[in-house]
Amino acid sequence: MLGIVPGGLPAPSQAEAPRPDSLQAILEDYRSLAVGREGVPVRDREMMLGGMDVTLTAGWIYPITTRAGVKAGLLFEGEGRFTYRADDPVEGRLLESSLERRNLLDLYHEGIFADRFDQVLVVSSFDPANGDWGTTKAVADGHGEDIGLSDSSPARQTKYLARAMEWESIDQVLATADMNGGKYLKASFSGGTMDLEHEWDEAELFLSSLSVWDPREGGYRALTAARRGGDDRGEPAMARLLDARLEVATADNRSGSIVSELTCSITREGVHVLPFQLVSHRNPRARGPASDERVLYLRRVTDDQGRALEFAHRLGRVLVRLPAAPARGATVRLRFECEGDVFAVKGREDRSFSFDWFSWYPEPVAPDPGLFTYTLDVRTRAPVVAVAPGEVRSSRQSGNVRELEVAARVPKRWVPLLAGAYHTREFLAGITPVRVHLLREDDDLLSRMAKHAGFFLDFFADRLGAYREEALDIVEVPRDRTPFDGLGASGMVLLKPHVLKRLEAGTALGEEILAHEVAHQWFGMDAFVISDEDAWLYQSAAEYFAGMATGALLKDETGRKHASEIRARWWRDARKSAGAGSIEGASLHTGPKGMPQRERLLLDRGPLVLHMLRGIAGDENFFAILRRFLARAAEDGRGTTDLLQSVAGEVLGQDMGWFFDQWVRHGGIPRIHIEYRIQPRVDGGFLLEGRSEQPADDTFKKMYIPIDLEMDDGSHERSTIIQDRPVTEFRIERRAGLRRIRVDPDHVTLALYSTGKD
Ligand SMILES: [Zn+2]
Repeated sequence: MLGIVPGGLPAPSQAEAPRPDSLQAILEDYRSLAVGREGVPVRDREMMLGGMDVTLTAGWIYPITTRAGVKAGLLFEGEGRFTYRADDPVEGRLLESSLERRNLLDLYHEGIFADRFDQVLVVSSFDPANGDWGTTKAVADGHGEDIGLSDSSPARQTKYLARAMEWESIDQVLATADMNGGKYLKASFSGGTMDLEHEWDEAELFLSSLSVWDPREGGYRALTAARRGGDDRGEPAMARLLDARLEVATADNRSGSIVSELTCSITREGVHVLPFQLVSHRNPRARGPASDERVLYLRRVTDDQGRALEFAHRLGRVLVRLPAAPARGATVRLRFECEGDVFAVKGREDRSFSFDWFSWYPEPVAPDPGLFTYTLDVRTRAPVVAVAPGEVRSSRQSGNVRELEVAARVPKRWVPLLAGAYHTREFLAGITPVRVHLLREDDDLLSRMAKHAGFFLDFFADRLGAYREEALDIVEVPRDRTPFDGLGASGMVLLKPHVLKRLEAGTALGEEILAHEVAHQWFGMDAFVISDEDAWLYQSAAEYFAGMATGALLKDETGRKHASEIRARWWRDARKSAGAGSIEGASLHTGPKGMPQRERLLLDRGPLVLHMLRGIAGDENFFAILRRFLARAAEDGRGTTDLLQSVAGEVLGQDMGWFFDQWVRHGGIPRIHIEYRIQPRVDGGFLLEGRSEQPADDTFKKMYIPIDLEMDDGSHERSTIIQDRPVTEFRIERRAGLRRIRVDPDHVTLALYSTGKD
């Protein structure tokens, strides 16, 4: 007996009329924002809208209020100007490069971005004008006529707000800010050079961002984002997940129940309401973010004494109201009971399901949900079996019910759960079980993949330090899941069918994708939290090590040939990234149009940058740098470019700031001209003298330029020119004759070389 109640009815708490101070009532109040029809004229009014200094030169402001009359923002129409200051150097660089890419650089000067606007709509958890609305008396003075009053706009904007509420969870954010303390503001500017949105969050995630409306892509695209420190209020999270007991049961692999018992630690003072992410529905045909098809219903939330707690679940978010605000550092235990037909999303034949790219259990809203241990018990209908990362405690069948129990003692940040009619093969790579799960019966492919994955695990462990997960599960996922070829979670690799086809055919690219995902076990999103500007570290490093491991797997001549093909690909595609800005700004290339540039920065330029570091450091030091970096990142729970830079500096005994500045924090590819002269010597040797030149502007980069000397006897010798200023002279002498010289023939440096001989 699975104990599943067929779903469909709304939770009883939603059917009753809410008490005025209930969570439901507060949310509904914030969902009924309206723009007041009574405007107040303003002239030369200065105000702060989040991180923006705003001058309302001349125009009208209208209050935005909730139904209960709480001020929740304003609408301004008229003439205005804003100034945005990027205080942090990273933010400044990102802002500058994203404005440059959009040809908006004339609005930017030394960290300050300014423009005009003729309308701004502000929604906030507080009154941004501090109650200082002026008096309507000014209208009687006749200012209204000078300024020009558009009386249709408040009604139009009220409709706009109502529409926005259907799409966004602003009501939940405002209610959370209101009940937990802290300020939240979102301002939409229009009428300037472009439409902008500014979000200022000092209530939930302590984050501020500036986005621009992109008409080609029909959405806002980030120009910059920055952390706003929480200071004494606590972390940019209200809770961290410490442990989860998850129970999933389905009798038909389509609908069923999900029960999550979460132990969370409270990381802030004064938390009355805890926000979680939890999927609301999985209807791919839904026009909006809400749907009444394939819904996950949250039926009950209880505390550790079994008391029912007030909650609200909408648009992928749950708010849970705690009976009293726990002290910072306290532990709370919450139980969530959900049910619905959110298992299989498509097709009636394929009863497999995959909980791999959304919050299928409640995750605390936070930039970092925290590392947690878990147990997971899944009951499916045979032949569908479940797969999840961790130690398999039991896997059995009784009647047509398949049950899997796994436990994760090594803490993880995320639990992917896949289920299907899998064929599984388990191998031991040293002491680590490697399990391959395919939706096809192919013994040859199963054993080959397990063997190769084991090879990659050993290869990476030798260079990067021991593998720390309980096991490695490699799972085939249906075509329509996860947006990528594959995905590397902690202890698990997900691969799509087209990658398996490549592996079946024995292509190097198939092996490379497998190696890349296995490399994410070290350079993983799950292993340490990575901010956007540090995202290159896990993508570029996984790609770099995947190339190296694939070369080693293919062995000898084939392996060497493959390794040089990979380098040639990085070099060729990285050259196309010359105008794409810096690697740290890669995530600013959003949407389908930004994808190729993002990939060039992360998967071509990034690996080549790591290869240059290896060229400078030498193999032994290079691997020592990465081992120390990964150990330190695991300790701090955070791997950043700054950390890699300081570790590289420690290992190499010199400040490596220049390297990361020029290759990670700035874009561009240097043009280098090498002019040289060869003089034969009486002893049969030669003297090579020359100069390496780069333009003396901000495109200059310090370079270690490899020179290949092909000697008369056909042997090759290596020399390196270190160019540390725009014009560097060099001199190379040998006792043997020289046939020819070549500059960086293996494409191991990112530069455009030209040579001249006199
Ligand atoms: Zn990746």
